[in-house]
Amino acid sequence: MAILGRLCAQRVWQVRPLHPSNITEYFKGFVFQKRHFRIVTLLSQSEGKNEDYIMSQSNSMKKTKETPLLKQLQCRIKFTGPLTICDYMKEALINPLAGYYAAGPDMFGSSGDYVTSPEISQMFGEMIGVWVFNEWYKLGSPRPLQLVELGPGRGTLMQDVLRVLKQLGLSGTDVSIHLVEVSPELSQIQEQKLCGTSSQYIENPEDGDYFRKNITTDGSSIFWYRHLTSVPRGFTMFLANEFFDALPVHKFRKTDSGWREVLIDIDEGDGPHHLRYLLSREATPASKVFIKSGETRDDFEVSPETAVFCSELAMRIEADGGAALIMDYGHHGKSCNTFRAFKNHSLHDPLCEPGTADLTADVDFGFMKEQVDERLITFGPVTQSFFLVNMGMEQRLHRLLRTCKEEERKNLISGYKMLTDPKQMGERFKFFAMFPGVVKSFLVKYPPAGFYVDFDKE
Ligand code: SAH
Repeated sequence: MAILGRLCAQRVWQVRPLHPSNITEYFKGFVFQKRHFRIVTLLSQSEGKNEDYIMSQSNSMKKTKETPLLKQLQCRIKFTGPLTICDYMKEALINPLAGYYAAGPDMFGSSGDYVTSPEISQMFGEMIGVWVFNEWYKLGSPRPLQLVELGPGRGTLMQDVLRVLKQLGLSGTDVSIHLVEVSPELSQIQEQKLCGTSSQYIENPEDGDYFRKNITTDGSSIFWYRHLTSVPRGFTMFLANEFFDALPVHKFRKTDSGWREVLIDIDEGDGPHHLRYLLSREATPASKVFIKSGETRDDFEVSPETAVFCSELAMRIEADGGAALIMDYGHHGKSCNTFRAFKNHSLHDPLCEPGTADLTADVDFGFMKEQVDERLITFGPVTQSFFLVNMGMEQRLHRLLRTCKEEERKNLISGYKMLTDPKQMGERFKFFAMFPGVVKSFLVKYPPAGFYVDFDKE
């Protein structure tokens, strides 16, 4: 708490300017074979409990616009059969030629499709910076600190975190930064923001598996990777904000004959879009793997890639030391139908004009916990409001208000409100932390900042 108090009292921090920018993202698609799925059941409005289904099945005279990705998907469906939601989500988001991130002009911010917490206020990243320093310090402060961010977007969170670490005397060669990013376009924006210069895309580096490297404006080495597995091993503090919700999910529904998977097929009828939802006739490989016998929900979503990332994080944190802070909207294994699309800050039909909207699903923190429980101890999820207020964000706001320009006051206050108000982002967004199992008794005594101890102390 001493560190937190000191930080919130610092006067030297500046109000961060807003950063307008153009962003496109580039994701790589996946291809799965689906010939063994036989499709018989069309979800009707009365059967479908998900409003998305209802939207996509209502009668309409005219179909929505065809997109370049739609053509690709139609060909693929004709060739291999209906797609799982997981395949569809991957294609719609990260198809290198026509996915949302690859083709979209600027999806972040008020003129885009959605806004993320670090883009709303500098105070968000500052609180994360304080957390990183505090937990790193408690874990023995090994230098250099290796800092990894999954899905860094515009690089704003990392910029704010690094500014705080510098204030606390941790910068230059004491820190190395490793960004996991599938979008070459976004990596350029991140590089400009953090380094102030651009470097060349690197094909086959001899000393690692990165595709870009540079030095930040404060003299720290920074690298970009496509996969977490490429990041060098060693004590690491991991950060991920709104990363896991972009990972694709499978969707299942309980029927009288057992669990079935929701699939996407071509709609040649009079539905509003060129695609429609179907249920598989039989159990699919994914339903056999992921649905547990005691599952009580009637609809169920699961993200296999989340399991893969969690398993890699658990292996690294257990073997090398460090911690992870995951920030996202999500639930604790209770929600059912969260797959949805956003466009222009509004809900959008996921089947409408694929590749033009952000597709997302709530993060299942219960599922994440299950993936790491044997090797790590976890804290949370706690609400964003709980975490930020406990980290001292209110004190930080008052400090900034004392020194800011008049025109910045309104933004600071509304940013604080938006991030912490339960009716805005305060409740829906959650914080979840992972630490090595060996430090459990230590953390029971000195819990991580922003959390409370919520596991069995025995
Ligand atoms: N963390 C940022 C951006 C969130 S948007 C913020 O809070 O503002 C999602 C980010 O994850 C983008 O940077 C996107 O390019 C990246 N991303 C999505 N799927 C990914 C994957 N499978 N591997 C690596 N990065 C991914």
